[in-house]
Amino acid sequence: MNRSTLDELKQQIPLLEYLQAHDWQQARPIGFGRFLGLCPLHADHKPSFLVDPQKNLFHCYGCRRGGDVIRFAELYHQVEFPQAVALLREWRGVVPLLHQVDRFYRMQLHRHSEAVDYLYERGVRSPELIEHMRIGYAPGGCLRGWLTQLGYPLPVLRRAGLVTAVGYDAYMRRIVFPLEGNLYGRSLSDGAPPHRFLPSPKGGLYSWAQAQLYPEVILVEGLFDYAVLWEAGFRNVTCSLGTHLNARQVRQLSNGTRTVYLAFDADGNGSGQQAAQCLSRSLRERGVSTRLVSLPEGHDPNSFFVTGGNAHDFHRLLAEACL
Ligand SMILES: [Zn+2]
Repeated sequence: MNRSTLDELKQQIPLLEYLQAHDWQQARPIGFGRFLGLCPLHADHKPSFLVDPQKNLFHCYGCRRGGDVIRFAELYHQVEFPQAVALLREWRGVVPLLHQVDRFYRMQLHRHSEAVDYLYERGVRSPELIEHMRIGYAPGGCLRGWLTQLGYPLPVLRRAGLVTAVGYDAYMRRIVFPLEGNLYGRSLSDGAPPHRFLPSPKGGLYSWAQAQLYPEVILVEGLFDYAVLWEAGFRNVTCSLGTHLNARQVRQLSNGTRTVYLAFDADGNGSGQQAAQCLSRSLRERGVSTRLVSLPEGHDPNSFFVTGGNAHDFHRLLAEACL
């Protein structure tokens, strides 16, 4: 890898854009076009992370680390230089492609009544919510053609996981939600596996940029749980896409002073509650205060609202949540 290839990569990925795509928020401008915000690399309580978009460099006064976008990727993803470069290359290629995929699947949503009916059943009813979560529908059998027409070669689509080895659309009859660098699909067919992701990492916490502004945050397992809470007016809600949190999601919750309400599924076999207790312990070890929300047995936040629960009822569950 020569110097000019690296310079080109750095030019194509402005540091500020990469940071923002990873939920970094500037606290304030500090002159000469530079910004200060919380450091995403250590548990920061007052803004000590400086970004200079013109020079494409960062420096943290807290953990005393700094450098360019490649250095940032190394530290943030905890990988060596070559892997950091590979991750950035992949990010550069996949982000615009997924943008096209979102656009296409969102157009499909209103053309397929089975998709709209399913959303209605799951409590996703307002256009504002569909817009906010950028929800789309993958009918299957048409994405590949559309993307090839736009000039994306088939091997690229296969590598991204959008098209199967034999050339079919990987997402069929699925409600889709764009994630950062990934795509979640919920199947409408009973026979198919209910959840589907692209092979790339699932990313950080859903909608974390918004949720992190609150001193109390509600964490749910699934995007349909997130959806009904958002619809009921909760903005301090985030989603881990499963009960197992990756290192980055744990870091996000631990960075700053806040209380996390764990509202996982109350499934009959107790697996959701077990996962919540386990996560609660590990968050406490990191100095985060946690509460376990107990939903009526057999319910998740989605079914709680769909079967008639309202914001007032859920507030009561939060107030009753135990340590
Ligand atoms: Zn730092």
